[in-house]
Parts: sequence; structure tokens; C-alpha cells
Amino acid sequence: MSVDISKVAVIGGGVLGAQIAIQTACFDFSVSVYDPDEQAFDKAVQNFKSIMSVLGKGPVVSLEDWEQSIKKVRIVTSMEEALIDADLVIEAVPEDLELKRRVFTQIDALTPLKAILATNSSSIPISKIEDVTQRPEHCLNLHFYMPVAGNNLVDIMGGSQTTDSTMEAGKQWIRSIGCIPLTVKKEIFGFCFNRVWRSVKREVLHMWAEGFVDLRDIDRAWMVSFGMDSGPFGLMDMIGIDVTYNVENSYYKDTKDTRDKPPVALKDMVERKELGVKTGKGFYTYPDPEYAKSDFLKG
Ligand code: NAD
Repeated sequence: MSVDISKVAVIGGGVLGAQIAIQTACFDFSVSVYDPDEQAFDKAVQNFKSIMSVLGKGPVVSLEDWEQSIKKVRIVTSMEEALIDADLVIEAVPEDLELKRRVFTQIDALTPLKAILATNSSSIPISKIEDVTQRPEHCLNLHFYMPVAGNNLVDIMGGSQTTDSTMEAGKQWIRSIGCIPLTVKKEIFGFCFNRVWRSVKREVLHMWAEGFVDLRDIDRAWMVSFGMDSGPFGLMDMIGIDVTYNVENSYYKDTKDTRDKPPVALKDMVERKELGVKTGKGFYTYPDPEYAKSDFLKG
């Protein structure tokens, strides 16, 4: 059965959920967002603007169209209202398997059976969630990369029963919102390019936490070598140190391998609320991080 996607619901309107919703609205889909924190969407918009200003970039569409698209996103105060006639639901709540399973149970009960249910998880395969729904054949991973407007990649991966038509509908929809699908052919924790990024992240976090190098040298090398606007530490500040910590923990819970355990120093940053761009301090300080200054690359 093919699914025509015209109405999209995003559950969790934080950093990523808000960006996904705005990107969706930019391409003229109807989109609703539910988040129990009524300030979440506005905070995420501000956070996104700060990231764009640090990177000196704009969204994919003109700034004017982007601002208009924000107004098209329908912010609702109940999950039911967001889901009532959705064709595609994207869950973007924090990276915690039990929370995602609970939220998927609620979503499944409130959404038409033909609708596709996707998780934006950064690591957890949908096969660990799909069994709480009555439609595992319509469940999949859609993992957006940060920032959604400047880096339009989306990993797409099916679960144990996802049909080809669900995957195809997912891929078509990704393209229809100006993004590039990266298809995972066989289930793997971390998906496609995100798993590559994760192995870089694990390595650099340990090099930093164990005092081998100055994190700025890693970022400098990354920026010079690959021509990027930021290095891995700058990127983690954009993603959010809390999100990074949760994702690293999710890998550790899956493998139980101590080499996957996130460094204590990262947890300490979360406890000190040094969460990156969203709190003004992470590995760098914002709005004017050192790596964005003209002489940073000189060392
Ligand atoms: P976030 O903390 O900014 O947002 C999560 C939002 O979910 C919060 O606003 C919170 O209020 C809301 N929420 C919590 N419980 C909820 C519930 N029961 N129902 C509805 N909303 C609820 O986190 P984020 O960075 O947006 O990450 C969300 C998901 O996206 C995570 O799985 C994360 O791993 C993934 N992700 C994040 C990034 C990134 O760069 N930040 C990139 C790709 C994927």
C-alpha cells in the first residue's frame, strides 16, 4: 500500500524537531508540532538562528521564506491534535529507548493506521521500538543531520517488517523537502554516515577527556583538512552536549563495551549545564566561539 504524504506531525519540538518541522513547512507540507514544553519550539528557533550566525550560513530557502515557514508550523497543545489526520509522524523526543517506546505507543493509538511512523533517533534502530505499534510494516528510522537547513542529509533505515513501499514513500518524501536520503540496506546501530561521525566523536572525546591533546587542535585540523566551518567539538556544541552524552550512552547500553562509555568529563559538562550553543557555553563560548574567528586556523 502506498502512502500519500501531505500532513506531517512532529512529536518533540526541541532542537531537531523544530528544524524538521520548519524544513517541512518550507516545502509546503502541512505540519503540526507537539511538545509538552510550550517554550521548546521558540527556544529551538533561537538556537537554530545562533548556529546559522556562528556558521555564517542561511537556511536552504531565502531567509524571508524561512521566517514565513516558521509561521506555517502549527504548534498544538496535545498529542491528539497533532496526530489526528497525520500521514507521517516523526518522533524527536530525547534519546532514551524507554521514553521513545512509551511515546510510540501513544502515537500509534492516536494516528490513522495507514500513517508512517518514524523516529529521528540518532542511534536506536526502529526494530527496538516497532513492536509497541500495530503497524511495524509502516515504521522506520528517519535520522536528520544537524543543522537541517544547511546539511540536508537524512539516514533512512527500515525495521524487521518495514515494507519496500514504506521505504520508498520515506525516500520520496525526504527528496520532496530538499533533502538527500542515505539508505541503510541492513540494520546497523547508528545508520549510515551518522555511524562514521560517531566513531570520530568517540575517538576525539577520549583524546580530549584523557588530556592527550587540546580540543582546538583537533577542530583546527578538521577544518583545514576538510574545509569545514567547524570541527567535531564545535559540531557537538551545535548538537547539544546533553544530546551527545545521551547518544554516547545509548551506544554503550547497546554494546556494554567500556570503550563506548562516554567520558565522565562529558557528564560533568551536562551537570554544569554547559550544553553548547543552547546555553552559551560548551566546549566553546557563544555567540562568538573561538573557531569562528579569522585567526583560529593559524594556531
Ligand atoms: P531536545 O532535547 O532539544 O528536544 C527534545 C524535545 O522532546 C524537548 O523539547 C522535550 O520537551 C520533548 N519531549 C520530551 N518528552 C516528550 C514527550 N513525551 N512527548 C513529546 N515531546 C517530548 O533534543 P533534540 O536535539 O531535538 O533530539 C531529539 C532526538 O533527535 C533525539 O533522539 C536525538 O538523538 C535526535 N537527534 C538530535 C540531533 C541533534 O543534533 N541535536 C541530530 C539528529 C538526531
